[in-house]
Amino acid sequence: MSPQRSRTILAAGLVGALATSLSLVAPSSALAGGGHHGGGHRAQLPKVPTMTGYGGAVASVDRDASQAGIDVLRRGGNAADAAIATAAMLGVVEPYTSGIGGGGFFVWRDGRTGRVTTIDGREAAPASFTDKAFIDPATGTPLPFTTAVNSGLSVGVPGTPALWQRVLDRHGTKRLGSLLEPAERKAVEGIVVDQSFHDLTAENEARFATFPETSRVFLRDGKAPAVGSRWNNPDIARAYREIRLHGVDSIYHGALGRALVAEARNPSAKDGVSVPKGQITMADLAAYRALDRQPTHARYRGLDVYGMGVPSSGGIAVGEILNLLEAYDQRTGRDLSEVSDAEYLHRFSEASATAFADRNRWVGDVPGVPTRELLSQGFANERACTFSESTALPRPVPFGSPDGAYAACAPAAGSTPAAPDGRSTTSLSVSDRWGNVVSFTTTIEQYGGSGITVPGWGFLLNNELTDFNFAPLAPGVPDPNLPGPGKRPRSSMSPTIILRDGQPYLSVGSPGGATIITTVAQVITEYLDRDKALVDAIAAPRLSSRNGTENAEQALLSSPEGAALRAQGHVLALQDPIGNAVAIRLLGHGKAEAAAETTRRGGGSAMVVRPTR
Ligand code: GLU
Repeated sequence: MSPQRSRTILAAGLVGALATSLSLVAPSSALAGGGHHGGGHRAQLPKVPTMTGYGGAVASVDRDASQAGIDVLRRGGNAADAAIATAAMLGVVEPYTSGIGGGGFFVWRDGRTGRVTTIDGREAAPASFTDKAFIDPATGTPLPFTTAVNSGLSVGVPGTPALWQRVLDRHGTKRLGSLLEPAERKAVEGIVVDQSFHDLTAENEARFATFPETSRVFLRDGKAPAVGSRWNNPDIARAYREIRLHGVDSIYHGALGRALVAEARNPSAKDGVSVPKGQITMADLAAYRALDRQPTHARYRGLDVYGMGVPSSGGIAVGEILNLLEAYDQRTGRDLSEVSDAEYLHRFSEASATAFADRNRWVGDVPGVPTRELLSQGFANERACTFSESTALPRPVPFGSPDGAYAACAPAAGSTPAAPDGRSTTSLSVSDRWGNVVSFTTTIEQYGGSGITVPGWGFLLNNELTDFNFAPLAPGVPDPNLPGPGKRPRSSMSPTIILRDGQPYLSVGSPGGATIITTVAQVITEYLDRDKALVDAIAAPRLSSRNGTENAEQALLSSPEGAALRAQGHVLALQDPIGNAVAIRLLGHGKAEAAAETTRRGGGSAMVVRPTR
């Protein structure tokens, strides 16, 4: 089905959802705590998973964060400004998923030039880091994953502050200081603890208790703060103030950086516990740059799909999945929009496993990654030749040879198993009235990152370096994702912007470690090919096939489609929830629909400046 047709159908299907969201817009007089976001006394918008209207849109996992972005748009800021305000608020109210101690990737569609560009704010390894950094010298074997997670060793040079500043230098109209202010106020005022915040804190109680400073900031008497209680973090407010006054130099050359380096190099764990020390130095901080990168590009259903290139594998893997799905259409003579739900999920699983085989073999922060070939339709057509409509390929699917010379079917080249991975992170989408569009995914890797809080400054340090493979995944097969000096660990983050005839069409992103790739690809295909409204494409039960591990949410596991997949040889394991997606679709003439989760992790927050029916 053409995007045009789906757009028409879906617009009709949205009326009910919109009526629900609009009826929830409270009058400003009824909004307790209004005016805390620098938006004067303007109304605060409700927390709903979909909203349509004009003037710009924001979708994030949190109401305060989306509101912070909307307030910036209302005051005349553009999508870049709003994205940074939203991200800064997330760093306060969602401190376990992102923040100034982490990194991220920013994809931007420019309303003036029509071009899509990206900025890489990925954390970097210290200059001293070698490919043996995670090998225990005593045993010669890799450190246990959890030992590496909860350590100074896994702390990469934070990229988020430099990324925020570069985004504003490149695309913004406001000063970073003004965009941090609402978040700083919120940090002092605090949040009312909801179930999701409580649960995430409770899950981390034991490891947070390992680090007295983390315990002091995030726990109350050693426990997760109770649902309904107020939790605040004056220390992060102090850090934001420091950045407001002294700029991001305070991280890369100043007081915040010195505190961060001291703590990562010598983490203050509780008595009797010793954790691996970090290698990061002030010179590493000073050398860090957020980098402009070429976006990845794939064509799908006549649309242009732009994503994040190396050091992320997200844009490459999402694009390859989409190319493979088109190749399956050709091979079978049946379009993805025409098949049953079970057939759709089978195709999606096979495409995902195949793309993971290729990204594991070919993608990392090394020279010469064959991005263009991995994203070519010729490569996908060759890779699709083993596809069967009735049977799952044995896992692991071997990787292919993206060498530019494609036959009907190439011999299998070898295989690599999957590596462990985190499940944290957050993504946000923003659009404005000038045709600028953002998809921005940002992380500290695990929920709660390394578990180490910078003393006196209230923010958690990332454990992003555990995204490196600690040792080669398979003997004799080159591994592009081994640690190295100054190297950026391979990511799965997949902030994505789709254009239609050069005009903005869709912005999508999600957290979830390696499942990010499958979640983003699934939302895109559920929306484009499966006749779903955007909010329903996000809500659909998820499948994440990663060439070895194949996870499904409960709703899918216990459905007839789950049974059909198992009958074809898919080995499904429960993971629930998978991802926490957000999206914006651009409807033309300045109209946009923001969409977020309906129920996963308590639901997300979709907002527009001027809602309409
Ligand atoms: N560190 C992961 C990556 O960059 C993201 C963390 C997560 O979402 O769990 O792919």
